[in-house]
Amino acid sequence: MTSTAPVAFFDMKAQQALIRAGIDAGLARVLDHGRFIQGPEVDALEEKLAAFAGVSHCVGVSSGTDALQIAMMAEGVGPGDAVFLPAFTYTATAEVPLVLGATPVFVDVEEATFNLDLADLERRVELVAREGRLRPRAVVGVDLYGLPADWPAIQALCSRHGGMFALDDAAQAFGARLHGKRLGGWGDAAACSFYPTKTLGCYGDGGALLTDDPERAALYRSLRTHGEGASRYEVLRTGMNGRLDSIQAAVLLEKLPLLEGELAARARAARWYAERLRPPVVAPTAPPGFESAWGIYSVLLPDAAARDRVQAALRAASLPSAIYYPKPLHHQPAYRAAHAASFAGGSVPPLPVSEDLCARVLSLPMHPYLAEDQVARVADAVMSAF
Ligand SMILES: *Cc1c(COP(=O)(O)O)cnc(C)c1O
Repeated sequence: MTSTAPVAFFDMKAQQALIRAGIDAGLARVLDHGRFIQGPEVDALEEKLAAFAGVSHCVGVSSGTDALQIAMMAEGVGPGDAVFLPAFTYTATAEVPLVLGATPVFVDVEEATFNLDLADLERRVELVAREGRLRPRAVVGVDLYGLPADWPAIQALCSRHGGMFALDDAAQAFGARLHGKRLGGWGDAAACSFYPTKTLGCYGDGGALLTDDPERAALYRSLRTHGEGASRYEVLRTGMNGRLDSIQAAVLLEKLPLLEGELAARARAARWYAERLRPPVVAPTAPPGFESAWGIYSVLLPDAAARDRVQAALRAASLPSAIYYPKPLHHQPAYRAAHAASFAGGSVPPLPVSEDLCARVLSLPMHPYLAEDQVARVADAVMSAF
C-alpha cells in the first residue's frame, strides 16, 4: 500500500508528537524554578551529552556558530592566522575566522565524501607556510551531511605542521561514528549545533563544545560567560555571551533518549534510497569505518541541467528537495576578498571539485520518520527524470 501523504524534507512534527508530554513537563519545570540562564537543565544536559559522545567534557553554548567562535577564541586565533576549511560547506564555518580577524583558507573537497581533500589541504598548508605571510594555525574539518571527515588523517596533518588546532565542525553530524568512536572524540574539540533541523535539534538556537581536554573545557566555560573567572564579577579575558538557555536544554533532555533510534532510522532510510537510485544518479556512500549520522541526504547528478530536470520532476510530484550548497564559499560576495588575499600575489590554487559539486548536488527528504513507500516515491520521481 502506498501513501499519498505529503513528504516532509525535515520532520519535527512526528517526533514532537512522541515527546510532547515530556517537553511540556520540562518547560513547566523551567518556568517554575525560573533559572532561565545556566539552570539545572544545562548541567544535566552537558553530563548526558558528554556520556553520549564518549568524551570527558561538554560545554553548552548558544549555537553551533558560537561553538566554533568560542573554540577559536580559546586558541587565540586572530590576525595573521590562516584557518583552513572546506570551500564546500555552510557559511558559518568560514564566517568565524573572519570575525576574529583571521584569514580563512578555502580547501577543496573530495567528490566521493564531500569532505576535505587531504592532499589539497596539505598542499595549501605548505604553500601558506612557505609564503610566510600567514601562520598556519587551525584546520576546521566539517562532517558534511553527517559523514565524518577523515579525522585520523586531519589530526596527523595538524601534528606534522607544528601542532595546528584541529576543530571538528560537527554541526551536521551529531551522533556519527568514525572507527567505532563518536564525533566529539575526534580533533582537539568538536562544535555541535542544535538548530532545529540538525540530527539533535532544540526549539530555537543551541550548541555545544565537546572535548577531552580539561583546560580547553575550562576556557570554553569562561569564554561563553564574558570571560568570567572564579566569580561572576572577575573578568579574565575577552569573551562573549554564548550561553545555552535552560529552556533549550530542557527540550534537548527530552529528545536525547530518542537519538540512538533516530540515527538507526536515518540509516535505514538511506539504505532504502540506495536500493532504488540507479546510475546516472550517484547515491552517497560511507567508506569502511565511517558511520554517517545522515543529517542531510545528498545525491550527485550528471550536470546542472539534469539537476533542473530532477527538481522539476520532484516538484511535479509535490515532493521537496533542496540544494546544499548552490555556491562554493570562495564565490560568495562576503568571502571573495579574503579568498583572493589568502595566498601571496593572489595566485590562489583553484577549487574545481567544490565548484563542480555546487552545480550538481541535490538533497532529498531525510528524517527518522520517513516510511519506505515515501522514500520509494521520492526515488521514483528522481529516476523518472532520466
Ligand atoms: C548549522 C551549521 C553551523 C551553524 O550552526 P548554528 O547552530 O546554526 O549556528 C555550522 N556549520 C555547519 C556545517 C552547519 O551545518
